[in-house]
Amino acid sequence: MSQKLLTLWRYLRTPKKFKSRSQIERWQKKRIVKHVKHIRNNSKFYAEHWRGIKDEDWQQFPLLDKAIMMENLADLLTRDIDLSEAFDVAKNAEVTRDFSPRIGDLSIGFSSGTSGSRGVHIVSDKEAGNWAGFMLARGLGGNIIGKHHVALFLRANSNNYGTIGSKRIKFSFFDLLKPMEQLQKEVEMANPTELIAPPSVLRYLADNNCKINPKRIISAAEVLYPIDEKIISEYFSQIVHQFYTSTEGEMAATCELGTLHLNESIMHIGKQWVDEENGLFQPILTDFMRTTQPIIRYLQNDILVLQKEGCKCGDARTAISQVMGRSDDVFYLQKNNSDEFEPIVPDFIRRAVMRLNPEIEAYHAIQKSRNKIEIGIQPSNLSPLDYSGFEELFKEKNVRKAELIITEHSHVPSTNKLRRIYREWDHRNN
Ligand SMILES: [Zn+2]
Repeated sequence: MSQKLLTLWRYLRTPKKFKSRSQIERWQKKRIVKHVKHIRNNSKFYAEHWRGIKDEDWQQFPLLDKAIMMENLADLLTRDIDLSEAFDVAKNAEVTRDFSPRIGDLSIGFSSGTSGSRGVHIVSDKEAGNWAGFMLARGLGGNIIGKHHVALFLRANSNNYGTIGSKRIKFSFFDLLKPMEQLQKEVEMANPTELIAPPSVLRYLADNNCKINPKRIISAAEVLYPIDEKIISEYFSQIVHQFYTSTEGEMAATCELGTLHLNESIMHIGKQWVDEENGLFQPILTDFMRTTQPIIRYLQNDILVLQKEGCKCGDARTAISQVMGRSDDVFYLQKNNSDEFEPIVPDFIRRAVMRLNPEIEAYHAIQKSRNKIEIGIQPSNLSPLDYSGFEELFKEKNVRKAELIITEHSHVPSTNKLRRIYREWDHRNN
């Protein structure tokens, strides 16, 4: 099957909605067992990792993470690939801005990891075609009829998107290495029907009065914070949709009501609880469409928040009320009367920052050390600042007061991801 046909086939095959949890479970069960069997026969690493555990008992397989994956990459892949060549190809493409780093039918990309070692990800044309059809099904809101012009603002390693140009559906690629002013002019010329971009770019376009009339706006590649969502949504007079993706897979997308639903038609997402009472968990991914570099029982670093009541759209796929960001984004503050640290999820920091002053238009908050938090705000000359949000937080969490350093916030969208809340300091080595 050609890649375009595969895309169309996957588009048509992707269920728009699931009626019940049992329908999802049936859908997943037969696909996962078949997938696991195939991977066991083709990946030396997984065969070893799962030794003594039957395919049907795949939920008992030991977990893996990024470090284990990268350490064992050559054996983990189901194809015979010269990894040093793959790394060279990917590195070279980043420098030359040629977005098609390939070896044969495989695309090679680096992950834009936020901390530590960078990952490499390898996808076959077949997988990319499948993936494109799936994203179309999730992204275009079930409407492939009529003409679409999709504008994508992306960083490097995104050649997958190039696969879905046709008479009906056109894709324009906007390279975030270019100056934003120029990109804004270009997107105004294109006047796309769908706009997919990181929230920092959508916010820039809204702040700078961008003259386009997209029918659908989709935030991707960065965490969408409420402060940005509000402004983007008001400017374009519509819901801000989201693709929640990571290097490890396409994890969730919004329904017509704007609720994020896990992409349970292509992956099983287990839960490693961080705070079960409040619905916080790290996802355990089992992607049953991905075969070249299989992701099975992979513990991902993000923290998601379960939506307590199901979504009114009627889709039984798990609803997520919030993506809290990477676990690197969780602050660790020193407990009172103890040398231990208390984790503080970014949402608490966000709320405290927003209480500083109602006129805050943008911000960042970085934990710099054991007891220092830098807070950048825009505009920077707001007064008075109300610290009661932080004071209450420190008291409620029973942690020592951290020093708050107020500075100016500024961010120009570029190839650097916007992270509003993160930690630069490692509590494990201090
Ligand atoms: Zn929904």
